[in-house]
Amino acid sequence: MRVVLLGPPGVGKGTQGRRLAEEHGWALISTGEMLREAVRRGTDLGVEAERQINAGLLVADDVMIGLVRDRTGEADADKGFVLDGFPRTVPQADALDLMLSQRGQHLDAVLSLGATEEELVQRLSARRECPVCKRAFNLGSAPPRDGSACDDHPGTTLIQRADDRPETVRKRFAVYHEQTAPLIDYYRRSGRLREVPAMGSQNEVYRALKDMLARVARAV
Ligand code: AMP
Repeated sequence: MRVVLLGPPGVGKGTQGRRLAEEHGWALISTGEMLREAVRRGTDLGVEAERQINAGLLVADDVMIGLVRDRTGEADADKGFVLDGFPRTVPQADALDLMLSQRGQHLDAVLSLGATEEELVQRLSARRECPVCKRAFNLGSAPPRDGSACDDHPGTTLIQRADDRPETVRKRFAVYHEQTAPLIDYYRRSGRLREVPAMGSQNEVYRALKDMLARVARAV
């Protein structure tokens, strides 16, 4: 299947997307992670993207569309993919439809995860990630076993993403409301939106996502 995970910062797109992709053998395509990797490597893209990411702003549509066009065309995405963090604007959503239709493909589902902003701000302030495998933990609700290092990489201390600091988080929410939230109506109008509440535990949200995907599969 080809699935988009839509939702505000901190709602769990990355965590849930990773589980869905691992369980089904789909590619996990996280545009935020692709950009952070480019920043770490100091590529041209990374140099260009770093300022926007740290300011909580979006990277230009044409750059993102090019990245996703290439990445969704790779062999591991043949069987299916989960998009985490793309599309984030209406032009990106239009471009995604176009690139898929040019390959005779289409999106199977747009899963919109919802939670209150209060909950999300709390989650983001407690979010830490493994610098090796990028797995996200929450110091409150889903802490690592030893309190500070990654479960899968003992000895690797978890870090806070630069854009999870409070000033940047506020900007990211403003940008989300302005540029990304309109996608909810965009996909609703075309009958592709599936809303999944994301206030529960990771396992509860995962079950709800899988139930929703099963319903989508039955409807095809
Ligand atoms: P994320 O990990 O999805 O929260 O993304 C982190 C940051 O990367 C965002 O705040 C943006 O600056 C940038 N970014 C990720 N995906 C996109 C996208 N589809 N369009 C524009 N900017 C993006």
